[in-house]
Amino acid sequence: MKGRRVNARIPAGRAPRVMVAAPAEAPRDCALCPRLATFIATNRAAHPDWFNAPVPSFGDATGRLLIVGLAPGLQGANRTGRPFTGDYAGDLLYSTLAKYGLSTGQFAARPDDGLALKDAMITNAVRCVPPENKPTGAEILTCRQFLVSRIAEMPNLKVILALGRIAHDSTVRALNGKPASAVFGHARRHSMRGPQGPLALHDSYHCSRYNTNTGRLTTEMFHNVFAAIAKDLGA
Ligand code: SF4
Repeated sequence: MKGRRVNARIPAGRAPRVMVAAPAEAPRDCALCPRLATFIATNRAAHPDWFNAPVPSFGDATGRLLIVGLAPGLQGANRTGRPFTGDYAGDLLYSTLAKYGLSTGQFAARPDDGLALKDAMITNAVRCVPPENKPTGAEILTCRQFLVSRIAEMPNLKVILALGRIAHDSTVRALNGKPASAVFGHARRHSMRGPQGPLALHDSYHCSRYNTNTGRLTTEMFHNVFAAIAKDLGA
């Protein structure tokens, strides 16, 4: 990240606090969250052919749209190494991106399917797969340094779409805001400010199988959020 700094983890009282910049992508061997590092190590042993590492962001870093999900799914992104790829959650997201002209190629739920994003990037608030899809507050906080840097390293960023409340709250905090002042709600739009200038933060319920199966999120509801985003992007 270029403008903002995060604290290195140096125990208080032992050395002066050194400020180091976090990269936009976590290193493959990141072990800042011990519980998640242990979970990944267990999965590596059980499934050595899976990706089993912090999942990097996917898409166009010069794009104007950043989509922030929660965390990799065990048999989805954690297996394939690409966000929203390999489990159900990607089906609705990638078909919607194609509908709104934000991708080229055909999504086939494989990282080698040739799909590319246009003017958009996808990341996660937490880069490592958490047990039962539930990261702790400390893990969300620890991984935020990469989200902060991801946001800062998109020079043309105009719109962020947060999928679910956790992604929303972490994004608001990454933008130095307070979730109490920008409360999550499906189809809500918040005027925020990022390192690049004004940003629109859109919210949607997460496009998980659970939310779509229960009708909490319908295809139409999700498309309507993208229609609002397209308006912000002038598309
Ligand atoms: S969740 Fe983020 S901070 Fe925690 S170990 Fe994974 S990459 Fe590192």
